[in-house]
Amino acid sequence: VIALGDAQRAVLELVVPTRHHEVDLNDGLGSIVAADIHARDSVPPFDVSAMDGYAMRAADTINAPVTLRELGSVAAGDAREHTIGSGEAIRIMTGGPVPTGANAVVLVERTRGDGRSVVIEIPVAPGTAIRPMGEDVRTGDTVARTGDLLTPGRLGLLASAGVATVPVRRRPKVGIISTGDELVDGPIRPEGKIYDANRVSVAALVAEAGCMAIDFGISTDDESRLASVLQRATESCDAVVTTGGVSVGDFDYMHRVLDRIGDVETMQIAIKPAKPFALGAVIGTPVFGLPGNPVAAMVSFELLVRPALLKMAGHAQLDRLRITAEAAEDFDRRADGKIHFVRAVATQPAGRWLVRSAGGQGSHQLSAMAAANALVVLDGPDGVHEGEQVPVMLLNWR
Ligand code: AMP
Ligand code: MG
Repeated sequence: VIALGDAQRAVLELVVPTRHHEVDLNDGLGSIVAADIHARDSVPPFDVSAMDGYAMRAADTINAPVTLRELGSVAAGDAREHTIGSGEAIRIMTGGPVPTGANAVVLVERTRGDGRSVVIEIPVAPGTAIRPMGEDVRTGDTVARTGDLLTPGRLGLLASAGVATVPVRRRPKVGIISTGDELVDGPIRPEGKIYDANRVSVAALVAEAGCMAIDFGISTDDESRLASVLQRATESCDAVVTTGGVSVGDFDYMHRVLDRIGDVETMQIAIKPAKPFALGAVIGTPVFGLPGNPVAAMVSFELLVRPALLKMAGHAQLDRLRITAEAAEDFDRRADGKIHFVRAVATQPAGRWLVRSAGGQGSHQLSAMAAANALVVLDGPDGVHEGEQVPVMLLNWR
C-alpha cells in the first residue's frame, strides 16, 4: 500500500503538456495560456476623461465659481489635436482624450455653459476625473502568464491591451472506456446486467477539467477485446481513462493487458474509497485505470486523474480549492491507516463554512456523490466531532 502523495507524484511524472497553437481571442475561452503575454499598448492608451464635463487647468478653478472661455467639445474617439490655455475650458465626454494643457475635468452637473463661456462652480484638484494613460496596464506589462486560464475577464484584458491572438495548449483528447461483462447502455437492460454509469460521469469530469472526452464504449472482461480497444484509444488520444477491472477479482484483466501491450504500475493507495489504481502507458500514451465502483471511480479521478489532465492542458494550478470548515455533525471512521474522503455538502450560512455528510458513503452510492459539492478529508486515525474544524476539498460543481 502506498501513500496518496506518492501515487499523485507518479501520475504527474508520467504526463507532459500538450503542444500549443495560436488562437484568436474569440476562440480562447477556457483554454490555457502557453507563454507569458505582454501588453502591446497601454490601457488607457492616452489620458481620457472619466466623465462628461469640462476639461481645464485645475489652477484656473481655485477661486470657483469662475467663468472660462469655452473652446468647443471633445467626444470619445475624437482624433483632432486640441490644446487649451489658461482661462479656457473645453466640453469633454466620457472616454474623450484630454486636450493638451488640461489637467482636470469638472462634472457637467457642476458647470453652466452656453457654448461661448462656461461657469465652473467648484474648485478641482489636478487629475480630477482623468484616467491617466497606463493606469490599468502599461505597454510591456504581463497581461497573461503561462498556465493562466482564459476567463472572460482575462480575454477582455488581452483585447484592451491590443493582443489579438494568444498561444494556448491544445485541449487534451481523453479516451474513455468502461470495462465489465455486466455493463450495458440503455434503454433496455437485460437480466443480470446494469447500466453503465462511469462512462457518463467520467466523460463529464473530463469535460469539466477542460478536456475533450472521446467515448470508446464498453469492453467486456476479455483480454483480447480489452487489448484492442486500449490500443485504438491510446493511438488516437492524449490519455485514456478506464474504469473497472483493477481489483483482484477473477475477471480483473486491466493489469495483465496493460502489462502485455505497454507498461503498468499497479497501486494500492491508502485512501478510501478508491484503493486500487493502475497507472499505465501504451505507446507513450498515459492510461489511468480507475476502480469500477462508480463513486470510487469519481474520487479516484478527482485525486489522481484531474491533476494529470490539468498538467497536460498546461494549467499552473492543479489543485482544487481547500478550505477548513466546521463539522455540522460527527464524522466517524475506522483507524485503518487510510485517508478517507467523505462525500459532503459544504455551505456558508453565516459567512463561515459548515460541512455535513451528503448521504450514504458506500463506494457504489452515487446518490451522495450527486448531492455533494465537497469531499471532507479525514486524514487522522479518529473521526471528527460535531463543531470541530475539518479540511475540505471543494469540488465546485455548483
Ligand atoms: P470492478 O472494479 O470491475 O471490480 O467493479 C466493481 C463494482 O463496480 C462492480 O459492482 C461493478 O458492477 C461496478 N461497476 C463497474 N463498472 C461500472 C460502470 N461503468 N457503471 C456502473 N457500475 C460499474
Ligand atoms: Mg469488473
